[in-house]
Amino acid sequence: MMRYAYHLTWTGVPPSRTFELSLSRQFQADLFIKKWQERQCSVIASRPCSTRQDFILFHILNALGSSALRDKMASNLPVTENDTLESPIFLELPKVNTDSFRVLLRTLAGLEDFARTNSHYARRKCHPTLRTSPYSRGCLYCCFHHNIHYLDSEWHSIFDCPLNLAAREEFLLLTKLNHFFECSNSVERLALLIAHIRENSSLVHALSRFALQIQTNRRNWFRQLSTEANKTTLAAKLPVVEHAFDPVWI
Ligand SMILES: [Zn+2]
Repeated sequence: MMRYAYHLTWTGVPPSRTFELSLSRQFQADLFIKKWQERQCSVIASRPCSTRQDFILFHILNALGSSALRDKMASNLPVTENDTLESPIFLELPKVNTDSFRVLLRTLAGLEDFARTNSHYARRKCHPTLRTSPYSRGCLYCCFHHNIHYLDSEWHSIFDCPLNLAAREEFLLLTKLNHFFECSNSVERLALLIAHIRENSSLVHALSRFALQIQTNRRNWFRQLSTEANKTTLAAKLPVVEHAFDPVWI
């Protein structure tokens, strides 16, 4: 049995919470919040452009932030940790298979294979025209099938690209979120969609399945595009097709 002297004092203990946590677990939770807030400050301070991975996260933080934070971001003023979120973007893990949710997180973190960040680097050997084309960040499906250049981005795939039409219709059938898909696609609209669904695990589940289906569709399409006939057709179309307006197109 341990006895403590009656005059023993203990400083640095975090303030009591409404729920019971051991000291070690509370320390871990506080450390997580501290690192998350540092990360948010770093992303906001860097003001990433559309070719950077953190571009989507920057806009999600803007959509989720307080009006004071949004004012500072709009005015390009320094942001402190006190201005940022304590809670994670998704408050609880959705009851989906791990692969789907991981793909959704990678998509929002800008880590999936989209040409806005990687300029189709992995496909340049197969399609050498992409090395010199000013549209090397474009959606190859829309270029090939619809003769139009769109920025190959996560929001184009989710809201617009005909390659994912069936998966999008399935998502809308499940979620009834059609109003998010009626305006023109943009990174801001994607951030608003995340802000809307983040506390509803069934909606997060549906978006995770959609994100996984998008990656499957894209892999299959890039495989089809690697035949000799399709490579020749794409090389002929890249320089001549129409350029779609997108405010973040480079
Ligand atoms: Zn497309």
